[in-house]
Amino acid sequence: MGMLIAILLGFFGVLLMRRSLLWRQGGGDYVIDKMCADNIQAAANCCASCGTAEVDDVKLKKCDQCDLVRYCSVTCQQEHQPQHEVMCKKRAAELRDEILFRQPESTHLGDCPICLLPLSPSTKDYLFETCCSKIICRGCDIANKLLREREGQLRETCPFCRHPQPKTPEEQDKNIMKRAAANDSFAIRQMGMKCYREGDYEGSFKYLSKAAELGDVGAHHFLGALYLEGKGVKKDYGKAFYCYEQAAIGGHPRARYNLGLDEGINERYDRAVKHFIIAATLGNDDSIQRLKHCYTIGKVSKTDFAAALRAHQAAVDAMKSPQREAAKEVNYPDGKW
Ligand SMILES: [Zn+2]
Ligand SMILES: [Zn+2]
Ligand SMILES: [Zn+2]
Ligand SMILES: [Zn+2]
Repeated sequence: MGMLIAILLGFFGVLLMRRSLLWRQGGGDYVIDKMCADNIQAAANCCASCGTAEVDDVKLKKCDQCDLVRYCSVTCQQEHQPQHEVMCKKRAAELRDEILFRQPESTHLGDCPICLLPLSPSTKDYLFETCCSKIICRGCDIANKLLREREGQLRETCPFCRHPQPKTPEEQDKNIMKRAAANDSFAIRQMGMKCYREGDYEGSFKYLSKAAELGDVGAHHFLGALYLEGKGVKKDYGKAFYCYEQAAIGGHPRARYNLGLDEGINERYDRAVKHFIIAATLGNDDSIQRLKHCYTIGKVSKTDFAAALRAHQAAVDAMKSPQREAAKEVNYPDGKW
């Protein structure tokens, strides 16, 4: 008899739990199922606020900050916000870090479109063509301009698109303006930098914002500087670092290095080291120096430091070629280039 009661209680217990889990409908209103909402909603595909399950005519929308909860309506999302806030912020930060600390495949400059080797991020090793917005390595530039065109007494053209080289800064500006009007993000960034040089910070902010919106990594980096300096826009430390992060995610080694420095200043050494390792792997020399220091003070392990040194060397070697080495020996004859 006792056994039978126990079995029956168990049976009803399961029934009650199922009922509670699945929510029930009464008088047209959904009864909120606490278990569903608080604990198992993610797995059970229920609205985190009211517990409504996802079925054919009910589509749940994920929280726009995290991947932990979903809601059946904006009202539900708003009602649930106070109890979700802390968890949401924590998870959103974790998700952001997953993106931030992913090793980019290459620097934001990518490869030289002529020799197809990775471009060195040092500004003395490349130049850009205003006709086609291509960044050309100095090796290819020298080979084209000095050896092919000067020696053959040919007209100077862009080594990539063969457009005649602009003869004056005005012609150069005209090229840039033409490409910017066609929504070329690189040219729009150049316009922003020109404004900056001329002291028009608001104009600079406008152009850089647009270029960043179009996905230009370099523009994110400069935009960060504007926010930091409060030039053309209200000073905003948070926004400045968000821009630096966007640039770093896009493979900008200097932006990554700066993030590492900032984390180091704030004594978050594990984060600083992660940034320096990523930047070193992209060939950034300064990050290697910082890692050396971190190793000395015991903030990075011997194994990780050795791996970073190897990765850095591999990146530097990949940017070398006989043509690029030869170009280092050549001085631009008239300083024009
Ligand atoms: Zn709901
Ligand atoms: Zn959330
Ligand atoms: Zn090249
Ligand atoms: Zn060109």
